[in-house]
Amino acid sequence: MTRPVRRIAIVGGGLAGVITGLELLKGKHAGAYDITVFERAAAPYTTLCGEGLSHTTLSRFTAFDSFPYAAETFKGAAWWFPGGLRVDVDETCYTMARERWIPAMAEAFQKAGGEYRTNAKVSAEDVPALARDYDLVIGADGPGSQVRKHVGGAHTTMLGIQYRVEKAGYETDRLEFYTDKRWSPEYAWVFPRGDILNVGLLADDRVTAEENWRRLDLFMQERKVEGKVVKREAYPIGFFGDKLQRDNVLLLGDAAGLTNPVTKGGMAAVIYAAEILADLLKRGRVEAYERAIFAHPITDPSFRRAVEIIHRWSNEDFEAYTRFAPKVLTVDGKVATKKRYFGPLVKTFLRYPHRIRDFEALARAFGVSRVYSW
Ligand SMILES: Cc1cc2nc3c(=O)[nH]c(=O)nc-3n(C[C@H](O)[C@H](O)[C@H](O)COP(=O)(O)OP(=O)(O)OC[C@H]3O[C@@H](n4cnc5c(N)ncnc54)[C@H](O)[C@@H]3O)c2cc1C
Repeated sequence: MTRPVRRIAIVGGGLAGVITGLELLKGKHAGAYDITVFERAAAPYTTLCGEGLSHTTLSRFTAFDSFPYAAETFKGAAWWFPGGLRVDVDETCYTMARERWIPAMAEAFQKAGGEYRTNAKVSAEDVPALARDYDLVIGADGPGSQVRKHVGGAHTTMLGIQYRVEKAGYETDRLEFYTDKRWSPEYAWVFPRGDILNVGLLADDRVTAEENWRRLDLFMQERKVEGKVVKREAYPIGFFGDKLQRDNVLLLGDAAGLTNPVTKGGMAAVIYAAEILADLLKRGRVEAYERAIFAHPITDPSFRRAVEIIHRWSNEDFEAYTRFAPKVLTVDGKVATKKRYFGPLVKTFLRYPHRIRDFEALARAFGVSRVYSW
């Protein structure tokens, strides 16, 4: 791509579309670009999400004051594994009221000089014309991306299903994750947000939709989530995207398959990718976008092996391989986890030497994800 970038089309005015628009119009570059967002819906809205995001990530996104849109604040996350191990990640985090946050960002984008067109569905056939009319086209049209069809390549999708439940006596000061094969090949979650709990799981594509909802019901019973279900939704998550750019058309967010494959957190990847893109544009180096994203920890190579291990290990495997760990393992970024739990780790390595490469891959993938995926 050689022409200077002034006119930019963003396809999709969801989280990735508005964050990218705001990031590009930030500060002294406000007048540098003429940006139009094409959103197929009648108004900006939120797609299905657990809505968990860390303070570190939210603080990075300085183009908009997002803190008033935090629905609830937590002291960290807690992740339970079969056998009872609980991993506490001590870091302030939030559930975001995305139904207010995304429209407010769309409004701020327009105030900053961007154009946000609604009822403006773009099909794959429209993309070549857009690429001729605009200097740059950004596909931010989610996991079913039309722009991706033009760019090529593939990504993997997994279905997330979630209930919104009236919060009736369920108290927790953490975002809660539960790895347990009875419910999900990966994990189920309880994320409170004000009067509501987001309770969901990553669905198993080898069983029927009814069976996945039945498993979510069982999970709720076991967790004693007793409030009234007010909404029931399902939506795909895009990850392992392998091609992000073709000439002056590029992909971002779930259209790019940038959601973290291990935690399925996608909002952080949007914030990092928008920042990377804005920086490359300012330096006139947008052709380096795909390379820059694939060199960044949001697409760490350890994720692929980690996901394969999480699927392969049974509940009994998890229980056995964590048997030397303390009941509660704390991760806070202040002391290296390997150093803090050196004794149990050595015991585990000696007892299961054939699994050392699995342990290392998981430690790497979860370590990178702790910083870059939520
Ligand atoms: C059940 C579930 C739980 C999740 N939990 C979390 C979590 O706790 N934390 C986290 O960080 N991430 C989470 N994620 C992931 C996160 O929701 C996504 O990564 C994020 O919403 C992706 O944003 P996006 O803008 O790329 O795509 P989307 O949210 O899909 O938005 C795409 C936008 O493009 C528009 N559009 C689509 N097609 C067209 C078209 N042809 N023309 C014009 N416009 C179009 C849509 O209307 C929409 O506005 C979760 C996802 C799911 C499904």
